[in-house]
Amino acid sequence: MNQLKNLIREIPDYPKPGILFYDITTLLKHPSGFRAVIDALRAHFAGHGIDRVVGIEARGFIFAPAVAYALSAGFVPMRKPKKLPAPTERVEYALEYGTDSVEIHKDAIDAGHNVLIVDDVLATGGTAAAAAKLVEKLGGRVAGLSFVIELDGLKGRDKLPGYDVQTLLHY
Ligand code: AMP
Repeated sequence: MNQLKNLIREIPDYPKPGILFYDITTLLKHPSGFRAVIDALRAHFAGHGIDRVVGIEARGFIFAPAVAYALSAGFVPMRKPKKLPAPTERVEYALEYGTDSVEIHKDAIDAGHNVLIVDDVLATGGTAAAAAKLVEKLGGRVAGLSFVIELDGLKGRDKLPGYDVQTLLHY
């Protein structure tokens, strides 16, 4: 699995000074690398009766549909405010400066559904914690959260206590 790190491009000072950006496009274009990631994400939750896989905008949209297909589950987009056309539920969360929100269609998840949440990077965990809250607001059960990359130093995992958190690569 750690060989996959060779396929992830690290870009210093993007999008702003001091941030080391993990660029997954170099992994996505690599046929066996992309397959290995989807297989690994699928394997952890195979047999868990996942009904829906939620992808968090924007890079979660790349991985979540492939994982949903592999688990024979449905895919649900969780989007930034005002992007979804039908009635939505929303959760707001704190950023370093100000707040942000995530939205989901109210009818995307049924009460009691087993839901897996997928994104590319677990950084501070703010987005993921809001995603879990939003799924639960609709009556879904968060079966787990999957990420390709975890930035250990930012302790995002601490914002997800009690959840099954799967990450493939640690930095
Ligand atoms: P957070 O809410 O802090 O966990 O941030 C999560 C979102 O920010 C993820 O969806 C990532 O796509 C993105 N992100 C945060 N830090 C990085 C980074 N160093 N490299 C690439 N993406 C990042």
